[in-house]
Amino acid sequence: MDDNPSNHPPPKRVVVCGGGIIGVCTAYFLAKKGAVVTLVERSSIAGGASGKAGAFIALHMCDGGPLSSLARASFNLHCSLAKELDGSQSYGYCPLTTLTISVGESELPSKSPILPLWVDGQVKTGEIIGTPETTALVHPQLFTRTLLGKAVAEYGVEVVTAKVESVAVEEDGVVVKVDGGGIIGGDAVVLALGPWTSKLPEISSKFRVHGKKVHSVVLEHKHGDAITPHAVFATYYPAQGTGPIDPDFFPRPPRDVYICGPSVQVEIPDGPESVFPDLESIQMLRRVAGMVSSYLVEDNVRVKSEEAGLMPCTDDELPIMGEVPGMKRCYVASGHGYWGILFGPASGVAMAELVLDGHATIVDLDCFSPARFVGN
Ligand SMILES: Cc1cc2nc3c(=O)[nH]c(=O)nc-3n(C[C@H](O)[C@H](O)[C@H](O)COP(=O)(O)OP(=O)(O)OC[C@H]3O[C@@H](n4cnc5c(N)ncnc54)[C@H](O)[C@@H]3O)c2cc1C
Repeated sequence: MDDNPSNHPPPKRVVVCGGGIIGVCTAYFLAKKGAVVTLVERSSIAGGASGKAGAFIALHMCDGGPLSSLARASFNLHCSLAKELDGSQSYGYCPLTTLTISVGESELPSKSPILPLWVDGQVKTGEIIGTPETTALVHPQLFTRTLLGKAVAEYGVEVVTAKVESVAVEEDGVVVKVDGGGIIGGDAVVLALGPWTSKLPEISSKFRVHGKKVHSVVLEHKHGDAITPHAVFATYYPAQGTGPIDPDFFPRPPRDVYICGPSVQVEIPDGPESVFPDLESIQMLRRVAGMVSSYLVEDNVRVKSEEAGLMPCTDDELPIMGEVPGMKRCYVASGHGYWGILFGPASGVAMAELVLDGHATIVDLDCFSPARFVGN
């Protein structure tokens, strides 16, 4: 056995750009596997979509498509991380029952036994689509910050607050230039900049990550602990005007309900702090909330937040994970769309395996390779 430390190759130095859930999970699993990791974030950790999401996760809802194994592996990792990090206390990890309903101006209050008590409005019952074994919620910002806390404390991840301006691949490593003239060197770099990934000049000509804006409100029921762990996927049929709208209701028991609305593609602003909610969309969410539940009408709630976040999306609606064509040792992990909170942990493991071992075993990354966009 070789016990001489001078004969071991030095650990790989990896720069991870972006402090959303994908960058943080990648940094965590890279450092856990022995890499020396620097994480670069321009504003605050989980200040973008990773702090604004509903953060519903499901074992089975991507079954039958190319995202199935990523979803299943990641849901199981969320379960084991929740045990390891005391997720129910530290970031609101909460297994729950999930159901569908339809909402309409002409519906009468439904008395179905599958509806939780607080869903007592103008709704028609749909079906149960998830159980506490297959569906859960986390608080996305707390999850991301808890994981980073462990990465820093136990695995020595260094966090740098700076805006990445460019990335260059050189003979003996990578060079990341940040604002203010700073340079961070490494053996490899992972770009996990969410919707801002293809704003980097080196990436913009290769593929596009666009941003879909989604609104959310968090309402606190003022009169007692009435909100039970039931996630509700609603379809709202307005009396006139637009077609159906699909708001999601995610409880944060015992008093809060997070509600998020439909998505619309927008120009990507400079940074996450420039993503603002539109009054009309917020009002629509508040109106539907009052139709779904008397516990959520104006007089019975305190508004805790009204926000919008940008989901990073790709042209074929699959994430982009792999080495950037023409840029050796420069990797990308972005475009996780509607399911980025679910996909975070398995994406982090897959990227760590790819960067350090040359291939991922947890999921097959072939169908997520950025090469699929280059040359088209
Ligand atoms: C309202 C809403 C509800 C959602 N609900 C769910 C859900 O229920 N379940 C689910 O699984 N997913 C959900 N999602 C999707 C999920 O939130 C995203 O897919 C995921 O957060 C994307 O993570 P990310 O790390 O790729 O991007 P981001 O969270 O956007 O992180 C990218 C980070 O990069 C930083 N950055 C950008 N440019 C630079 C630069 N030049 N230099 C340094 N740093 C930079 C940004 O500041 C940001 O912190 C939802 C999203 C939204 C908006």
